[in-house]
Amino acid sequence: MNNSIHNLTNTDDIVIIGGGLAGLFCALKLAPRPVTVISAAPLGQGASSAWAQGGIAAALAEGDSAEAHAADTVAAGAGLVDEEVALALAREAPGRIEDLLRHGVPFDRDLEGKLALGREAAHSARRIVHVRGDMAGQAIIAALTEAVRKTPSIRVIEGLVAEALMTEDNAITGVQLRRRDDITAKPVTIAARAIVLATGGIGHLYAVTTNPQEALGTGLAIAARAGAVIADPEFVQFHPTAIMVGRDPAPLATEALRGEGATLINGKGERFMLARHPDAELAPRDIVARGVFAEIAAGRGAFLDARAALGPRFAEKFPTVHASCIAGGLDPATQPIPIAPAAHYHMGGIAVDARGRSSIEGLWAGGEVASTGAHGANRLASNSLLEAAVYAARIAEDIAGSAAPSPARALAEQPPPRNCVMPVPSTNNLRRLMSSHVGVIRDGEHLAEAARTFAAIERDTGNVTLRNVATTALLVAAGAFSRRESRGGHFRSDHPTEKSAFAHRTMMTLGEARAIASRLDQGARHAAQPIMA
Ligand SMILES: Cc1cc2nc3c(=O)[nH]c(=O)nc-3n(C[C@H](O)[C@H](O)[C@H](O)COP(=O)(O)OP(=O)(O)OC[C@H]3O[C@@H](n4cnc5c(N)ncnc54)[C@H](O)[C@@H]3O)c2cc1C
Repeated sequence: MNNSIHNLTNTDDIVIIGGGLAGLFCALKLAPRPVTVISAAPLGQGASSAWAQGGIAAALAEGDSAEAHAADTVAAGAGLVDEEVALALAREAPGRIEDLLRHGVPFDRDLEGKLALGREAAHSARRIVHVRGDMAGQAIIAALTEAVRKTPSIRVIEGLVAEALMTEDNAITGVQLRRRDDITAKPVTIAARAIVLATGGIGHLYAVTTNPQEALGTGLAIAARAGAVIADPEFVQFHPTAIMVGRDPAPLATEALRGEGATLINGKGERFMLARHPDAELAPRDIVARGVFAEIAAGRGAFLDARAALGPRFAEKFPTVHASCIAGGLDPATQPIPIAPAAHYHMGGIAVDARGRSSIEGLWAGGEVASTGAHGANRLASNSLLEAAVYAARIAEDIAGSAAPSPARALAEQPPPRNCVMPVPSTNNLRRLMSSHVGVIRDGEHLAEAARTFAAIERDTGNVTLRNVATTALLVAAGAFSRRESRGGHFRSDHPTEKSAFAHRTMMTLGEARAIASRLDQGARHAAQPIMA
């Protein structure tokens, strides 16, 4: 069932916000129970899920096990992975792959007809199911979109952005939405007794990112503004090799290129990773990202050089990357590719329990917007699609199993909140500040400045979208400021080592993030006062 915005009724029991893997899979699992799926972008667009290149991790190979998959997940997470969560995730993987096969996802098979399993960095076994090489995300979302469109109990509404959650006594009562193509239009409200947030990540808060422009962290923001506890907001994974050919978001140069022998060089032609790690270009993702960042910051530039390793074979071996380079006016067979680290994945998110429940009654969160404890300080490759599918299924089961509720009550007419067209320079300024102050290499002074700035925007702006964007930015900056150590994706040049005192997850409300910014502001004012004799 597909409905236009004009057919929107204003009460519904279950509303899912987000049309990526988490949202669509949850809706299908809930069928035949009626649900409404709201998506800012048309299904198939504006979702990181559709862009996934690698695939989904599942311990399916002979000799592999859920325990081994969980152990790799725990090792990647730098001491902060919840081991029970990781093991349960790995155990449920085969079942969710079966579900996706039933929905028609054409995972690649070997000559015997078994699922073909790829290998990725930091996985101790071949365990990545994939589609036509690097097309997993696109194939998964195409199959699920078709299944959703054929399911009569699922109503899909595209082109609406969720901009606020309504609550009463810490329980969900509804959601406020606005047309994406006309943000000055009057908002629409839907009363709901159960809301599932599946709005994806926050990559687009950064000036350089691999994420679609919908990944602005607005889902995280509206949950935080409604009082939800946010976990680990400071942990952002940066991909070391985004291709800098003037595109936003930046296309990815897959890690497999370095696996094939491509090297990282600076503008002088020097291989800078040799001095940084024994594995040089094949060091862990966060270490390579910092190496690339440092070369760029020092003004030397960073390039991925595949001339010797691939040369004329480039186009045939890596057609997607080749096409991105050619479209950007450079031939990677004969020229080094300019690169930069890009915000890629958010390990933090709305804190949820094993059923996907947040700290607000009636609010569930699944996929990248949630933080389950599975990724700790650093995500293991190909675990995020898995987590989205596993938690979407659990959320559906939890909602379906909850006692038959009283239907949602129609919401009283609300005065439309003030909104003005989002000034693009403000968003761009904020994105630049995130990259320069809350990015790959952080320090207390710059994090403090960023937190104070985001708190002021969040407090003062009359633009709802900008306020939501600043809310999430504030949470990331405040979390990063408070974690005075380096761990996983979070690196502080003023605290460059891991510290046992911080070997715990961050749990933070928006009120606490604001309080951190306020103390920093008072400190800055105090420091600026002239010292009286
Ligand atoms: C280039 C790239 C490659 C990747 N490769 C892999 C991989 O190989 N394996 C892997 O496991 N992971 C990979 N990831 C990560 C993975 O794709 C994501 O973590 C995962 O797809 C998130 O799924 P999701 O359903 O939570 O969010 P998404 O798929 O991002 O969907 C979010 C949805 O919410 C909508 N939305 C957002 N905000 C709002 C709002 N306020 N109101 C209404 N709708 C809203 C969006 O339009 C979209 O429909 C990759 C990510 C990228 C960017």
